[in-house]
Amino acid sequence: ERVISGEASDFDERFEQSLRPQFLSQYIGQEKVKENLGIFIEAAKGRSESLDHVLLYGPPGLGKTTLATVIANEMDVNIRMTSGPAIERPGDLAAVVSSLEPGDVLFIDEIHRLNRTIEEVLYPAMEDFCLDIVVGKGPSARSIRLDLPPFTLIGATTRAGALSAPLRDRFGVPLRLEYYEVAPLKEIVIRSSGLFEVAIDEQAAVEIARRSRGTPRIANRLLRRVRDYAQVRGNGSITMEMANEALEMLQVDSRGLDHIDHKLITGMIERFRGGPVGIDTISASIGEESVTIEDVYEPYLLQIGFIQRTPRGRIATRLAYEHFGYPIPEHNDF
Ligand code: ATP
Repeated sequence: ERVISGEASDFDERFEQSLRPQFLSQYIGQEKVKENLGIFIEAAKGRSESLDHVLLYGPPGLGKTTLATVIANEMDVNIRMTSGPAIERPGDLAAVVSSLEPGDVLFIDEIHRLNRTIEEVLYPAMEDFCLDIVVGKGPSARSIRLDLPPFTLIGATTRAGALSAPLRDRFGVPLRLEYYEVAPLKEIVIRSSGLFEVAIDEQAAVEIARRSRGTPRIANRLLRRVRDYAQVRGNGSITMEMANEALEMLQVDSRGLDHIDHKLITGMIERFRGGPVGIDTISASIGEESVTIEDVYEPYLLQIGFIQRTPRGRIATRLAYEHFGYPIPEHNDF
C-alpha cells in the first residue's frame, strides 16, 4: 500500500473522524468553494428552505466527505451517509430517503457507481421530492408514489465525467475541489498536530505539507508517521530534522513522489525518450493497468506539470527531467 495514496485505509478511518473540521470556518483552503457555499447556505437558511443539491467532485482525500458534514452542520440538519454501490435496489433508496427529516442531507459517496435503475428513481426524488416505487410482481404490480420531505442530496465523486448527463444536470451546485497549495496544507498539519497534542515546528509542517501531494488525507497520514518517528527517535516533538528523517525513511521524496511515480517517469524517459508515448504502451512497459495509471498515478503528476497529455500521447516535461536528474534532451521541444 502506498503511503502517498489519496484513498482511505482502515487505519486512516480510525483517525479521520477526530480530525474532521465541523464548520466552514474550520475548513481550511478551497476558498472559492467555501465562498460559494457560504452564500448558498446563508440564502437557503434565510428563506428557510433546504439547500440545493450539491455535487462535490475531485481526487480522493481532498475533503468531500468532510465538506458534506460541514454543510449539514452549517444548515443545522442531520446527515445520512451511503454510497453508490450500497444502493442496489430501489427499495434500498426508498429506505434511506423515507427516513429523512425536512431539510436533511443525504450524502451519496461514489455517486458515479449508482446503477441506471436507481438513477431513474432518484430523478423525481431530486426534482419533486417524491418516489415512484413499483410494488408487487407481474399483473398485480402497481406503482405507488411516496412523498418525501424536501432534502439536500450531496453526491461525491472522483470521476465527474463518469456521471450521466441527466444526473449531473440535476445538481444545482456543482463544486470542484482542487489539490491544496502548500500553505493551507501546512495549516491542516498544524491543526491536526494540535488535536494530536504534539508540538511541531512551522518548518517541519511545511515539509510535511510539501510532500503530501496537495491532499489533506496524505498530510494527516504523513503527520502520524512522523509523530511516531519523533516519539521513538526523538523527544516526541516534531522538528525539521525528525520530519526529514521520517519522510526519508518512508521514501517519499521532496515533491511527495514515491517509487511508483519514479518507475513511471523514469520509464518514460529511459525507454521512450520522454515521449510522446501512448498510455497503453506505458501500461505494458511498467506492468500497471492503463486505468490505474490514468485514475491514480497520473493526476498528481499532471497537476505538478511533470507529465503532459498531448494528442500523440504523454510526454515527460523538463520539470520531470530536472527532478529526476536527467540531462535535458535536445530533441524535446519543451
Ligand atoms: P474520499 O474521496 O476518499 O471519500 P474525501 O475527499 O471525502 O475522500 P475526507 O475523508 O473528507 O476526504 O478527508 C480526508 C481527511 O482530510 C479527513 O480526516 C479530514 O479531516 C481531512 N481534511 C480534508 N479536508 C480538510 C480541510 N479543508 N481542512 C482540514 N482537514 C481536512
